[in-house]
Amino acid sequence: MSTSTEPLPVAVIGSGPVGLATAAQLATRGMDFVVLEAGDEVAASIREWAHVRLFSPWRYDTDPAARTLLEATGWTAPDPEKLPTGGDLIDGYLAPLAAHPAIAPKVRLGVAVTAIARQGFDKVRTAGRDSAPFLIRLSNGTELLVSAVIDASGTWRTANPLGGNGIPAHGETDAIAAGRVHNGMPDVLGGLRDQFAGQRVAVVGAGHSATGTLLALAELADTEPDTVLHWVLRAPNPSRAYGGGDADALPARGAIGTRIKALVDAGKVQVHNGFLVQEVTEQGLVSADGRKLDAQVIVNSTGARPDYAAATELRLDLDPILGSTRALAPLIDPNQHSCGTVPPHGVDELTHPETGFYVVGAKSYGRAPTFLLATGYEQARSVVAALAGDWEAARDVQLELPETGVCSSNLAAEADAADSDCCGPAPAANPGPEAKRGLTTGISGGLLSLPLVDVSASQSGGSCCS
Ligand SMILES: Cc1cc2nc3c(=O)[nH]c(=O)nc-3n(C[C@H](O)[C@H](O)[C@H](O)COP(=O)(O)OP(=O)(O)OC[C@H]3O[C@@H](n4cnc5c(N)ncnc54)[C@H](O)[C@@H]3O)c2cc1C
Repeated sequence: MSTSTEPLPVAVIGSGPVGLATAAQLATRGMDFVVLEAGDEVAASIREWAHVRLFSPWRYDTDPAARTLLEATGWTAPDPEKLPTGGDLIDGYLAPLAAHPAIAPKVRLGVAVTAIARQGFDKVRTAGRDSAPFLIRLSNGTELLVSAVIDASGTWRTANPLGGNGIPAHGETDAIAAGRVHNGMPDVLGGLRDQFAGQRVAVVGAGHSATGTLLALAELADTEPDTVLHWVLRAPNPSRAYGGGDADALPARGAIGTRIKALVDAGKVQVHNGFLVQEVTEQGLVSADGRKLDAQVIVNSTGARPDYAAATELRLDLDPILGSTRALAPLIDPNQHSCGTVPPHGVDELTHPETGFYVVGAKSYGRAPTFLLATGYEQARSVVAALAGDWEAARDVQLELPETGVCSSNLAAEADAADSDCCGPAPAANPGPEAKRGLTTGISGGLLSLPLVDVSASQSGGSCCS
């Protein structure tokens, strides 16, 4: 970083857990910064899934630098073994962190970053580029100059389209505008109950957001029997989404798969295999091969993708498949890695040709669904250390992600984990209500092509939780 940019603050885009952890790292190092948040409150994206229980317990959900700052204010860390909901994460950790006196004055709410450039430089101009400040344009029309940009804006706001080819289906935009499409894991048993009760609902996707939503909808259908559930899959059959059942290496995943299979077998969920959504009509969905599905409400659980529209004038080196940096892509490839097997990585893997611009957090993984908070916190620590010129600390990446424990969501099963030395505890066939709406992401996704692990804990040898 050139000395000419040193007086300017570092911009952190997004006040989710990784953006706020980045702020904590910057504050700890005494560096000036500004956090730019599109929402009217911090952690605006998590607020949309506040009802969902995380699959990783508190001990993996808070950043060490943030904890140190908070503990000095009298904050007490939550029980490390408990699984928070998104709402718990905000109330018990993120809101207090954002209110910390070292961070609160630096947070600007209600300002989305709409464009990032190098002041006086378009993408092509090189001479002197690295010493020019970044110019950030905000949704309110104002601009600010900063010395570096750490983009922690996540992927939540850019869901993959319903269209089976990766582009929006015909009519999809109109259906979204009409409020008929809900993304991710809508709160079908809570705030959005009225929109789903008694409706014909199509859930599109094969990951844990889809299966978690179907389980919640089945619970709704128990009391609202007119509710009809359709499960729309691109795959030729749902077996991958079922996982290994009782033999699954990830017990909560196996348990959810077992419960979904039971619902399908009982005719409570109608499966539509090999259904590439071609069109969204007022009547429902139409597949590429002409099948019609009658649905008033649609849940898009097809995952999310990074949005680089604001950064088109920056020099980025993106992996052509995942949209992470190219150096990071092989480390997070969901064909090879579960959330717990991603190797440690930091500033070196996150560096773009555009000096001083970094993407951390969920967005850094691009389309890989395997991101974990603990990984993002270490990314933030390493990047901030590099910006501070402390390359020794920046390269001393110390991520400790046990292959078990971070990827399971069943408290009861975890209590039995003592019997298991690999791949977590024994599977629970009937997880309690605590686990019902957890395990939403991060383990399998659209790119996972390997079969799910189907070995029991007693049989397993070298491979855990992959
Ligand atoms: C339902 C669900 C459950 C999950 N469970 C777990 C789990 O159990 N364990 C785990 O480790 N991980 C889990 N994850 C994965 C991941 O940890 C979360 O997605 C986490 O919220 C990512 O944090 P982040 O800070 O990178 O991004 P986000 O939390 O998405 O925060 C991004 C912030 O940036 C803001 N923003 C977006 N665009 C702009 C812009 N242009 N300008 C300004 N601000 C902007 C947003 O409003 C938001 O506040 C889960 C994810 C989901 C969706």
